[in-house]
Amino acid sequence: MCYAIPGKVTRINKKIISVDYFGEERKARNDFYRLKKGDYVYAQGGFIVSRISEKEAKATLDTWQELFFKLKERDLRFSEKSGNLRKAANRLRQKKSGNSCCVHGIIEFSNYCRNDCLYCGLRHSNCSLTRYRMMPGEIVDLANFSIDKLKFKALVLQSGEDTWYTEEKLVKVVKGIFKRNPALLILSIGERNFKIYERLYRAGARAALLRFETSNEALYRKMRPGHSLKERLELIKKLRKLGYLIMTGFLIGLPGENNKDLLNDIKLTASLKTDMFSFGPFIPHPKTPLGNEPLPSLDKSLDTIARARLMNPEAKILVTTALEALGKNKGLKLGLLSGGNSLMVNVTPDKYKRFYDLYPDHSGVGLDLKKKIDATLKLLYSLGRAPVDLGL
Ligand code: SF4
Repeated sequence: MCYAIPGKVTRINKKIISVDYFGEERKARNDFYRLKKGDYVYAQGGFIVSRISEKEAKATLDTWQELFFKLKERDLRFSEKSGNLRKAANRLRQKKSGNSCCVHGIIEFSNYCRNDCLYCGLRHSNCSLTRYRMMPGEIVDLANFSIDKLKFKALVLQSGEDTWYTEEKLVKVVKGIFKRNPALLILSIGERNFKIYERLYRAGARAALLRFETSNEALYRKMRPGHSLKERLELIKKLRKLGYLIMTGFLIGLPGENNKDLLNDIKLTASLKTDMFSFGPFIPHPKTPLGNEPLPSLDKSLDTIARARLMNPEAKILVTTALEALGKNKGLKLGLLSGGNSLMVNVTPDKYKRFYDLYPDHSGVGLDLKKKIDATLKLLYSLGRAPVDLGL
């Protein structure tokens, strides 16, 4: 199991580090280490997450050497095909970013939410949902296990907008993980106070996943009662200015949206200078006001990934698990073949995951974690993708 390949530092320009991976160079930001040329590092999302010894790096690189070049050839074969929108997007992805693919772990630590988004199964008004909260120490232990034993180098800490987690509790979590196991910690905790984000940044968090869901202001107000798109975007911009890597995006097929909206959604994501596009299909949840609305087609979702790639050749584009729900277990593969180059693996324990009910079939309950991780790696290798950092 391995979700990252170490690289060798070849150039240092203040905080921007050039890292070599088997002859390919990527740039990454370094906030935490005193580095010199020749050091070995792991990077994720364009960020240096750890420095390792030459001995450890060479042992890992030796095991990768042969496979790495085989994967490159395989990816090239897949992306040589052209003809339609998705194939063109896949080809462009290969040309601009090679076969690199980020794999992040995700921990869903609380399904409480104070908001009432019309499309979401975690909405406050869904009284039929069993709610849970993981205690701060439990989150820290699971995160450390995921980084230390499962070897994730990037971890999303996700919850509904749950104010039970005070600034102090969240800082304790981030510090507890970061001190023991440096990794790219990605916060997905909603519209919390900016000061909380500031403290979490100082504690070691370096990325925020905060989707705006739709660029259509009227639709946004309807879908997210009591909230405004302007406030959301302002928070995203402030987080970016502070130094957070930004992962953002939208829902495909929200009731009331039109094709022009989707195009604007892609443009808005890019205009925020996002470090990673994150968008997925709207999947109606029976316990929400939109429960009887139609699903968008798989084709529409894949074409949106392809359009986003063609409009943003060098973007990191996450293929979300919602696509898997829509694509009957082929969604991830098809998403990667439509221009996607990033994935997430859910490491939340079953006893909680079953209640993180964003949309039907979200949880993947009952799937053994090891088998799921192996299946993800198998999928990547079958498409010729390697877990090399995509760089800045
Ligand atoms: S989308 Fe997020 S903020 Fe809205 S109800 Fe769901 S968890 Fe809460």
